[in-house]
Amino acid sequence: MVQIIAIDGPAGSGKSSVSKQVARELGFGYLDTGAAYRALALAVSEGWVGSHESGTGQNVPNLDEFEYSISLNPSDFWVKVGDIDVTETIREPRIAETVSSVAGVPAVRAFMRELTRSLVLHSNLPGVVVEGRDITTVVAPDAQKRILLTASEEVRLVRRSAELSPEVAKNVESQVSSRDAQDSKVADFMTPAEGVTLVDSTNLNFEQTVAAVLEVIRA
Ligand code: C5P
Repeated sequence: MVQIIAIDGPAGSGKSSVSKQVARELGFGYLDTGAAYRALALAVSEGWVGSHESGTGQNVPNLDEFEYSISLNPSDFWVKVGDIDVTETIREPRIAETVSSVAGVPAVRAFMRELTRSLVLHSNLPGVVVEGRDITTVVAPDAQKRILLTASEEVRLVRRSAELSPEVAKNVESQVSSRDAQDSKVADFMTPAEGVTLVDSTNLNFEQTVAAVLEVIRA
């Protein structure tokens, strides 16, 4: 059976880079679940995937047209839609602006939950570090280890903006806060659910955060 290490957390908590490093140290795979939501948002905006209106008037992507693949190798990461490598494109700010509305569609969340489970199940790996916003609660509530990685909002904004010009940083600040606000309507990723261990990285650097997460896993 594939071991699952589930890591949740808000935007800017460092969960992607920490999860990748933890996966390397354990010899496990790494699955970035946000990448699938981003790739779907991109596919819809480029017209690679059509959409239809649900009974409640919501715009629902045609999920059967979404041909998605992702690397689970933490040291060779890529994301594809069909044959197109979208690894870089899905990080563009225009995607961050639209992804939450795509992620708010219940049919999309159900699809992503099954996609994530299937990717892990068929990974042929001893374990996978699965990272996202609802992983400890909805996608893998029975994972071997479940961790919520947080940091104070101030620290998260500083980390996200550290390498950017002041102007871009300002945009990022409002983007991170509004994305958290919108995402929190569909998944509570700020308070640990029962059985989930909280790792607060507000006063930890990268190496210390990785060590703290590994300590929880090995405990
Ligand atoms: O983690 P990342 O910032 O790449 O996630 C992008 C977006 O995908 C989030 O803002 C959220 O709307 C959505 N998401 C989600 N559930 C997950 C992972 C991501 O709703 N497990």
